[in-house]
Amino acid sequence: MKISPATHTLTMSFEVFPPKTDTAFAPVRQAALEIAGLSPRFVSVTYGAGGNGSRYTFALCREIEEGAGVPTLAHLTCVGQTKQSISASLTSLKEAGIDSIMALRGDLPEGMTGPQGDFPHAVDLIRFIRETNPEFTIGGACYPEIHPESPDRRGDLKYLKEKVDAGCDFLTTQMFFDNALYFHFLYRIREIGIHVPVFPGIMPITSVRQIERAVTLSHSFMPTRFKRLVDHFGSNGEAMKQAGIAYAVDQIIDLYASGIEHVHVYTMNKPDVAAEICRRLSGILGSMA
Ligand SMILES: Cc1cc2nc3c(=O)[nH]c(=O)nc-3n(C[C@H](O)[C@H](O)[C@H](O)COP(=O)(O)OP(=O)(O)OC[C@H]3O[C@@H](n4cnc5c(N)ncnc54)[C@H](O)[C@@H]3O)c2cc1C
Repeated sequence: MKISPATHTLTMSFEVFPPKTDTAFAPVRQAALEIAGLSPRFVSVTYGAGGNGSRYTFALCREIEEGAGVPTLAHLTCVGQTKQSISASLTSLKEAGIDSIMALRGDLPEGMTGPQGDFPHAVDLIRFIRETNPEFTIGGACYPEIHPESPDRRGDLKYLKEKVDAGCDFLTTQMFFDNALYFHFLYRIREIGIHVPVFPGIMPITSVRQIERAVTLSHSFMPTRFKRLVDHFGSNGEAMKQAGIAYAVDQIIDLYASGIEHVHVYTMNKPDVAAEICRRLSGILGSMA
């Protein structure tokens, strides 16, 4: 199913992750369908780097498209993959009617230090998809605070430009908690000739445990305002959840007011959080109509 073109109103996409086992599939499917029921522009489904659980990613995409009529973006990582295994994945995606791929390298498994396999970097995967299956819509990842493995910003941006030139239709950012970082990044990449849409990635942080995991993985900067919020509400589960949602909604409103019309939300299989974000936003945007 094709992702619809941009409109001049705020659209959202939500991210879910697939289960690791057959038995966990039903509850994850239920959560994903509830999230899709909020009518996002698309739902993206993550992929276990190294190929673990790819069938769950594709199966979940299919369930969302067929069950909720919402287009999906299937993530696909290339670390450790061969041309044969990637070709097989592309065939499976086509057979499942999935048109859009988030093409990623994936995090290097422990012990793996440098690029290995047929696809050392995401750019190699993007080039391969473009050459062999040009009909796919392709997204790529980008990092307003630079990728943690990159020694410097200049190199990171140079490789990002190569990735876009290889055939990305759009980029989605790593999560950030300070919108100024995103706007600054946007300015830098427009200056070097990257003109595809760049969807800001917003993660509603709803518990202290989630903060620790998110920051370890993403290396995202925590603004003082956010740290204060955690200090104040972190020991009370429900208060932290509401404050985290309010912070994410605040970021989204600021992005929209600054002319950004599509926001990607890392909802991580939490339909209640996604629904509350939509409810609060529709209260604000609805009163503008
Ligand atoms: C929006 C988003 C979604 C994600 N979804 C998933 C997911 O579903 N599953 C998952 O496992 N992970 C996911 N990740 C995490 C991602 O896989 C990791 O951040 C990974 O470390 C890098 O992936 P990439 O596609 O950005 O890699 P690349 O674009 O290959 O970049 C990786 C590093 O290599 C450098 N580099 C790039 N090209 C070259 C080159 N030609 N020569 C030398 N250096 C180069 C870059 O500067 C960077 O430091 C996601 C990240 C984001 C932002």
